[in-house]
Amino acid sequence: MTLKGKSAIVTGSTSGIGLGIARALAAEGANLMLNGFGDAAEIEALRAGLARKFGVKVAYSGADMSKPDQVHAMVKAAVDALGSADILVNNAGIQHTAPTESFPPERWDAVIAINLSAVFHATQAVLPLMKARNWGRIINIASVHGLVASAEKVAYVAAKHGVIGMTKVVALETAKTGITCNAICPGWVLTPLVQKQIDDRAKREGIAAEQAKDELLAEKQPSGEFATPEQMGALCVFLCSEAAAQMRGVALPVDGGWTAQ
Ligand code: NAD
Repeated sequence: MTLKGKSAIVTGSTSGIGLGIARALAAEGANLMLNGFGDAAEIEALRAGLARKFGVKVAYSGADMSKPDQVHAMVKAAVDALGSADILVNNAGIQHTAPTESFPPERWDAVIAINLSAVFHATQAVLPLMKARNWGRIINIASVHGLVASAEKVAYVAAKHGVIGMTKVVALETAKTGITCNAICPGWVLTPLVQKQIDDRAKREGIAAEQAKDELLAEKQPSGEFATPEQMGALCVFLCSEAAAQMRGVALPVDGGWTAQ
């Protein structure tokens, strides 16, 4: 249990990649602050289940990452419930696809608020706490779309490129401390966020969901296989380890070869 006694905030951890990361950190003994939307009873069952299975403290905040005051309140709630905020995984994110000329401005604002600005606000809130202990890990879940673009994802690609830039700035500002800041860049991971894109594609092309899934992978991801939330969790555990203490400001693709092309 390499993270025993540490506390981790994982934003957007009621589903998908964030949940995979929360599980992996708890399995290493980290206390957790869960965050995200969903059915209250299901979230409580998840919270209690993780606490029981891994023998760690697990708290939950329903903070909306598009609201800076709620982001700060979540960090404070984590310290109140868990005693510290040693690890921050900025994972919450949304997607909207449309050509730039018809991209709804309110969707632009929402994607930028949740996928980019929330990373800034949460980082700002945890830095003084991490500096006081001279230890911290900030892990930003960016995307291959922080490194390369795809059509019809103007807000998402802009936000994720921004996250990688922010990761480098924070890494430089903390370079002489025990705090590191890095980004993970997943390719396709089969989560509700991607299932929606598969369903949209199936509807648009009049094909079965299975075929849409195969096409989606074939188009971008040379391995032909999805990356998994468990793989993202394992990489987060590594980035929290002493072995990764001199990894600073990097953006690590886990993308089945997407960005090697
Ligand atoms: P998901 O839809 O399964 O989960 C998103 C999580 O964020 C959920 O817990 C949701 O409740 C939460 N969330 C959404 N809006 C929120 C808000 N305003 N405030 C608080 N929580 C909010 O999506 P996912 O695929 O697991 O995506 C997680 C992250 O990984 C995102 O940043 C996404 O951009 C990134 N990512 C995903 C993929 C992929 O293929 N799935 C690829 C690259 C990057």
